Amino acid sequence: MSAAHVLSQHFERVLLVDRDGQDVAHERQGVPQVDHLHVLMRRGWLAFNELFQGIGEELIRAGAAEVDWGTNCYWVGRFGAFPRPPSDITSRLCSRRLLEKTVRARLASNPRIELVEHFEAETFRWDSSRSRLLAVKARDGRDLEASLFVDASGRNGPFRSKAVLEKVDARASYATCVVRIPHAERLPFRQAYVQVCAPHHLRGGGINPIEDGFHLAMMVGAGHEMPPGDKEGFLDYARSLRDPCVAQVLSEAEFVGPIRCFRRMAGTRVLRPAFQADNLVTVGDALCALNPVYGQGMTVSLLSALELGRQLAQEGRTSQKRFNELVAGPWLTAAGEDLRVPGCTLENVSVRERLTMRFNSILGDRVMLRATFDPDAHQRAMRVLHMVDPPSALLPLALPRVG
Ligand SMILES: Cc1cc2nc3c(=O)[nH]c(=O)nc-3n(C[C@H](O)[C@H](O)[C@H](O)COP(=O)(O)OP(=O)(O)OC[C@H]3O[C@@H](n4cnc5c(N)ncnc54)[C@H](O)[C@@H]3O)c2cc1C
Repeated sequence: MSAAHVLSQHFERVLLVDRDGQDVAHERQGVPQVDHLHVLMRRGWLAFNELFQGIGEELIRAGAAEVDWGTNCYWVGRFGAFPRPPSDITSRLCSRRLLEKTVRARLASNPRIELVEHFEAETFRWDSSRSRLLAVKARDGRDLEASLFVDASGRNGPFRSKAVLEKVDARASYATCVVRIPHAERLPFRQAYVQVCAPHHLRGGGINPIEDGFHLAMMVGAGHEMPPGDKEGFLDYARSLRDPCVAQVLSEAEFVGPIRCFRRMAGTRVLRPAFQADNLVTVGDALCALNPVYGQGMTVSLLSALELGRQLAQEGRTSQKRFNELVAGPWLTAAGEDLRVPGCTLENVSVRERLTMRFNSILGDRVMLRATFDPDAHQRAMRVLHMVDPPSALLPLALPRVG
């Protein structure tokens, strides 16, 4: 959707095709993760506001909760709870459905964007030289012609099954439920998170505010750990975490609605695409679906939309290369952590990449150790986790101090 918005600044007519209908209140087959926690990293929040002016205020009016990831967040990392000084790493939390609804309303009022619902893209039609695409074809036989195609069809998009993918599968899984917490304002934090830290701690969980005074409770598992989908099992799982913060909150919470599970969360990245053409770019999860535990996916998609706008404004054309570069860092970070999970399986990941991931993990541990005991190091680590600063900003924290 953010790519369509950007395209409308450069083209008179943009067709936004979706296999689902517009009504985000209902089941989303194309976005099965819609009911799970979707935090927007600080960089993503900034990009979101840059792309859609005033949308931050709109979300606040709709009830999105403000969070300072320093002082409001009780986060138990690998070496214990992080310090909680006030920080400039702030963003808003709300449900994924509210995010989508707000963006869709913007797109619906954009006269250059035409929403084509229930169009399940299946393949493309080529020109005679097979270097340019002419049309996208739907499963039901319809086809739509265009001069430029942006594939943002997500982690289950139709063209991925024909592509060669790199895959890192730590068998991560979620169970999520909307809860109401009595007197949430009296809690010593706004959000709490007990992180999965492989290889020893394969269970994690958290509690996060969303709109309308509700919270999303989530349990996370990796490797052989899989959070259950029934209430008793969910509460038992929360009690088994290495910090009691989430279980204590949940003991008083009212469970609203069903517990939803998500099991297919392997990280996958397109190594060789099914289609390559001068007028096709692949972005977002369609290009690189990260293990969502690291909360980077939407931020990467929003940054890709900004990059698309930059390419069209400055170069008048698109190039896949820069989108590939954009996902490289988040991919290494997420896959590097996944690699530590016992039984994690890899497909098509080069030896060089594996070594880089392992090396990053070692440096990452040094950073997290310092961030646990040093508020300044914590602030710097948060800026990188939230993709505000590049990972290189952490090197001084990761390298041994001399003298
Ligand atoms: C359980 C879970 C939790 C997550 N939590 C977070 C989080 O906390 N923070 C975060 O930043 N990210 C999170 N993510 C990742 C986030 O959901 C994605 O990174 C983000 O939605 C990617 O956006 P996208 O536009 O590339 O794809 P999507 O948002 O998946 O959108 C794809 C679109 O393509 C449509 N589509 C699919 N197939 C077709 C077809 N054949 N024809 C036409 N249309 C089609 C779909 O209907 C959908 O509208 C999570 C993911 C999962 C699985």
